[in-house]
Amino acid sequence: MTQPAQTKTYYAMALDPIHVGTGGYRLGRVDNSIAREPGTNLPKLPGTGLSGACRAYSAMVTDRYNWQENGKIYSCAGQGQEDAQRNKAGHCGRHTCPVCVAFGFARDRSGFQGLAQFADVRLLFFPVHSLAGPVWVTCPAVLQDAGLTVNSEPAGNQIRLGTGLAAANNRLNLGWLMLQAEETSFQIQSANLPVPDEILQRSVLVPNKLFAQIVNDNLEVRTSVSINPETGAAEDGALFTYEAIPRSTVFWFPITYLAPQFFTINGQTPSPQENGQPTTVQTVVEKGLTQFEHLGIGGMNTRGMGRLKIFLPEQGG
Ligand SMILES: [Zn+2]
Repeated sequence: MTQPAQTKTYYAMALDPIHVGTGGYRLGRVDNSIAREPGTNLPKLPGTGLSGACRAYSAMVTDRYNWQENGKIYSCAGQGQEDAQRNKAGHCGRHTCPVCVAFGFARDRSGFQGLAQFADVRLLFFPVHSLAGPVWVTCPAVLQDAGLTVNSEPAGNQIRLGTGLAAANNRLNLGWLMLQAEETSFQIQSANLPVPDEILQRSVLVPNKLFAQIVNDNLEVRTSVSINPETGAAEDGALFTYEAIPRSTVFWFPITYLAPQFFTINGQTPSPQENGQPTTVQTVVEKGLTQFEHLGIGGMNTRGMGRLKIFLPEQGG
């Protein structure tokens, strides 16, 4: 029996501060805010941005970024814009194309949604300064959403410390907030979480209701100067601030892979190939995911921002 769909969970760690904006300006205390989940107000990396960047990187590594055939230039990355005057044919839309099969394509009369379905990238462990050094906060609801459980939840407004942390008098500050820690430490019950041990051991479990506040109080707010691209000089009065998710934040996200045999492209079953050899949608997507640690996500990549290390699930897992 073939499963019609299979969902894989991925984990990721920010190698730089990450800014994925909302496109809005001057919302609140900073000029450029980051995207947030509506219900919880927690920062997130929208699935559309993940999918768009992954598409571009998968196209680069499978030689589908810009390629020519019969005098036409195809690009299976991007939005698939066609431009007859410049001989640009957009997405190729073929049932053998590793990128168009995985990420879908746009065509005049027909389109295809793609066999890889992306969701938002969500927080799992968020770094905060404390008197005991850097710690990573998380909470029961966030862990549960990621399919992880803890041995027990903290009571009231108390927190629980990871096994590698000790606090004088069981009191620990998270940023400016001072909290009481319970005697027993907490451990996540998962055999193969690909998160560095140091982060797990220095993690702090906080009550659900405090998590968003602690995260939002400890986001980076950076100040930068707008440079005029023509003169290379700073523009007058062009100082601006922007929010960023800090380096070493840990995230998780699911990708659902749909089985090709339940779909058709131009009357044929999608069968992606690379260099004439059969490949799978998961392989193509994961080749793209490995590029985020070099090429990054979000805006301001030229300012040393946005690189994201993505941990791939173990083969067959
Ligand atoms: Zn294509």
